[in-house]
Amino acid sequence: MKIATIGEIHEEGLKLIPKNKFDIIKITDTSPKALIKNLSDVEAIAIRTSNLSSDILSECKNLKIVSRHGVGYDNVDINYLNKKNIPLAITATSNAVSVAEHVLMMMLSLSRKLIKCNSLVKNNLFTEGESISSTYELYKKNILILGFGRIGKVLQKICHGFDMNIYVYDPFISEKDINSYNCKKIEFMEGIEIADYISIHMPLNHSTKNLITKKELEKMKNTCFIINTARGGILNQKDLIWALDNKVIGGAGLDVFTDEPPKKADPILISSNNLILTPHNSALTLECRIRMGIETIKNIISFIEGKPIYSNIINREILT
Ligand code: NAD
Repeated sequence: MKIATIGEIHEEGLKLIPKNKFDIIKITDTSPKALIKNLSDVEAIAIRTSNLSSDILSECKNLKIVSRHGVGYDNVDINYLNKKNIPLAITATSNAVSVAEHVLMMMLSLSRKLIKCNSLVKNNLFTEGESISSTYELYKKNILILGFGRIGKVLQKICHGFDMNIYVYDPFISEKDINSYNCKKIEFMEGIEIADYISIHMPLNHSTKNLITKKELEKMKNTCFIINTARGGILNQKDLIWALDNKVIGGAGLDVFTDEPPKKADPILISSNNLILTPHNSALTLECRIRMGIETIKNIISFIEGKPIYSNIINREILT
């Protein structure tokens, strides 16, 4: 039986594969042509962020399961898998803590102008430190969490440590449930208007694409900091640059982009001081990579051995 890995999977995960039962094919060339060639006879695919389109999947004649290293799965054609009754697993329990801590890092860095302070000291401008105006505490500020799933719930716990007022917009979670975390359910536009911090934690799909554009940015406080660690495209990137350049909002932190990697000529790369960028690595702490590697492989082995981990399978209705 053959398992293909596309992108690096941590050794702690790979060593769980019984070598007497499975051959491992490590694929590094992720061009569609190479994937079609190398995946044609595999039973399982462990995949990071490369695209698995229906053109590629339809050539995988023996495929039994796709296992995503991560939780977002917009890079895999789920409709094709559903049609063919092939399960798609994710590492649901692995990465919420790392992503939520990354959000906290961005909130504090933006509020305290960390990048600017660092460059003052390194450029021998120590005495100008006092001239940095308008840095802020998180204490008792309003945060709007957009999407109250695994990551949103870890983030609220962290924010309670700063005595923040926590507002949640998630139409799929009841008020009672949100209140049980000592958070308040709020309508989208109302939340946008009162927030000092906004953090995005919902999937990218046809209803969340361009959820935040110029119109919503204009409604925000001009001191508001917005952070996107979910997926590029939920927050319109061009409109965000416009809002930063025109001081419509206070600043932003992005871990995810419309194009990844961003195009060289993209204005985002040379934009405002109040924009912090990280290369889609909020979930790539060592602890998280180990957990994701283990969970990615366990999902495959358990399923093939007839012990499916239902909670990790996105399209579990096809199994029933
Ligand atoms: P999750 O599925 O546990 O939670 C998503 C939440 O979004 C759910 O509660 C759902 O009800 C809500 N939601 C769905 N549509 C919505 C809408 N239109 N408006 C408001 N809320 C909506 O997912 P999660 O594990 O918390 O992850 C959230 C997203 O973060 C993922 O979809 C993924 O794209 C992204 N992510 C990014 C990284 C990274 O490396 N930057 C790592 C992990 C996850």
